[in-house]
Amino acid sequence: MFNRRKFIKASALSASLFAVDRQQALAILPRAQETAAPPIVISTWDFGIAANQAAWKVLSSGGRALDAVEKGVHVPEADPKNQSVGYGGLPDRDGHVTLDACIMDELGNCGSVAGLEHIIHPISVARLVMEKTPHVMLVGDGALQFALENGFKKENLLTKESEKAWKEWLKTAKYAPVMNIENKLYEKASPTKLPGNQYNHDTIGMLAIDSKGNLSGACTTSGMAYKLHGRVGDSPIIGAGLYVDNEIGGATSTGVGEEVIRNVGSFLVVELMRQGYPPEEACKEAVMRIIKKKPNTAKEIQVGFLALNKKGEYGAYAIQKGFSYAVCNSEKNDLLIPGKSYY
Ligand code: ASP
Repeated sequence: MFNRRKFIKASALSASLFAVDRQQALAILPRAQETAAPPIVISTWDFGIAANQAAWKVLSSGGRALDAVEKGVHVPEADPKNQSVGYGGLPDRDGHVTLDACIMDELGNCGSVAGLEHIIHPISVARLVMEKTPHVMLVGDGALQFALENGFKKENLLTKESEKAWKEWLKTAKYAPVMNIENKLYEKASPTKLPGNQYNHDTIGMLAIDSKGNLSGACTTSGMAYKLHGRVGDSPIIGAGLYVDNEIGGATSTGVGEEVIRNVGSFLVVELMRQGYPPEEACKEAVMRIIKKKPNTAKEIQVGFLALNKKGEYGAYAIQKGFSYAVCNSEKNDLLIPGKSYY
């Protein structure tokens, strides 16, 4: 005969057994499904090759993505020949080299500096803002004061070459950014001589996944050459120049920062990846927002996005041809040009 008490007991038991089984299954399943992507680092422009190499040293020895991106972008920051990042960067219209940088880790922590003068590695100051203060962003004199208090050395970042270029520019003082100056492949492909007194911008944005499958990103620049003193671009703005969400992926940008800020570009790319867009498609959609809002401006400027998702898939898209990016993993360190651009 049917014994109700026994049935309740039995079903409670089987339910709890099922609960245990289910829990065990769930504990196993995500591990099986979410095999971490192998380490990879990607970064903007030709100078990304050397920067990736430095980042790869950290990743290949099991280091954290955050350390990798910081070490990686140190390379262009310290290179006096690079006139769009760090030491040797072209100054603003008053002759000051002012640097913008930000960094973001796998926990969503972030730090940023803007309009920082005299410090070769703004990215490391941004990291200290993240790690040592309750704030996200320090600017100008306050950022410099914080850097000096934390042992950074005050240096002259204006090289003879950049000073010469600035003085040459002052003769006409025409504010006309030139596109894609950091892409040597593009110069070779379309050997139009760029006027000597006009220089582009071009930022290094870097994204990495480490052996634990964690993502971090860094972005650092001297910004638009000959900008108004005090101008801040997209590069130190979390969500504009850089955004990382460890569940989804990361994105970074280069080009005319004002348009990236207006569209919160890197955050947009990550959110599009959250909706299922592959990295290149997400970058393309962010570029299309810029073009749709200002079609005439967009014809004249460059903006490029670079993205890496949690699976280690990457992609890029730019308004204009000529954007390059570097990809480094255990098999390669290649310089790529996005398959497509809008123009
Ligand atoms: N996004 C930078 C800025 O607006 C410049 C660049 O990447 O080209 O300052």
